[in-house]
Amino acid sequence: AKQAGKRQVARLDGHDEAAPIARNALIRRRLPSAFETRRFTLHYQPQLDLVSGDNSTVEALLRWTDSELGMVSPAEFIPIMELSGDIHRIGLRVINEVCMQARRWLDAGVPRRVGINVSPVQLATRRVVSELLSALARHGVPPDLIQVEITEGAAITNLPRAIGQLQQLRDAGISIALDDYGTGFSSLAMLRNLPLNIVKIDKSFIDNIDTSAADALLVRGVIDTAHALGLKVTAEGVERPCQLRLLRELGCDIAQGFLISRPVAPDDLPPLTARTPLLEWH
Ligand code: C2E
Ligand code: MG
Ligand code: MG
Ligand code: MG
Repeated sequence: AKQAGKRQVARLDGHDEAAPIARNALIRRRLPSAFETRRFTLHYQPQLDLVSGDNSTVEALLRWTDSELGMVSPAEFIPIMELSGDIHRIGLRVINEVCMQARRWLDAGVPRRVGINVSPVQLATRRVVSELLSALARHGVPPDLIQVEITEGAAITNLPRAIGQLQQLRDAGISIALDDYGTGFSSLAMLRNLPLNIVKIDKSFIDNIDTSAADALLVRGVIDTAHALGLKVTAEGVERPCQLRLLRELGCDIAQGFLISRPVAPDDLPPLTARTPLLEWH
């Protein structure tokens, strides 16, 4: 089976029309062993506060290196896990690993706030709130060190239930961000209905912000709307200094992207630039 897998991967390098389907099947076949052998790790990407210069908030991003498939992007395997139901157990692993890491940073005297991506499929069950709150309690991590990012890849099937669960997280002191804003199922209605603290503007709107007047206007519109609603704005996928300059001019609060840092292993994160008052309290 291993040999056959390798041959298939090689063939997939060409322009084969069946390639995405075959790769999808391969990923599904490799997932059980990835769980068994604990091949999932987390990388962390810093976010830069454009007002204070603080870089202590990071986003946790799943990484999977498979012996047959090589590196598999979460953009590929998360949608598969959402369909298979594996999203619930990977979600629990992410929650526990993030809490352990947040505790290590607290113990080392370099506290960082961590964003956890949560799929709407996870919100469809009632498990995720208690899983998160009990992991925080078990590891002694203050809830205000956690930011939940609602990814918008899948539609929120039970909106009232999702709102209720997000509200419980918020009441516990966790902040809530709407991820990939402007794409997929995210809309003005989501800004109105979800209990949010932060809106993350999708990279596709940031990409040409410095060359497309239309994109700059759209981003300005999102920033002004979010601010009017009392929300902070994060720009995703900032790669060039001119994008960062423009985002500052437009009043964007936070920037994330390869320009600031790629997602890296916890030990490779850049040192903290400033301590936020929030973190001084602990
Ligand atoms: P996301 O939450 O929107 O995360 C941002 C993605 O953009 C990450 O891709 C990150 O590596 C990438 N990125 C950041 N800055 C730049 C940049 O300047 N240029 C470019 N080209 N890319 C940049 P990644 O790590 O491949 O993750 C893809 C998506 O998979 C995430 O998008 C998120 O929706 C999902 N995901 C990742 N980890 C988890 C997880 O633990 N749980 C769930 N439910 N979803 C996850
Ligand atoms: Mg995210
Ligand atoms: Mg995003
Ligand atoms: Mg995204």
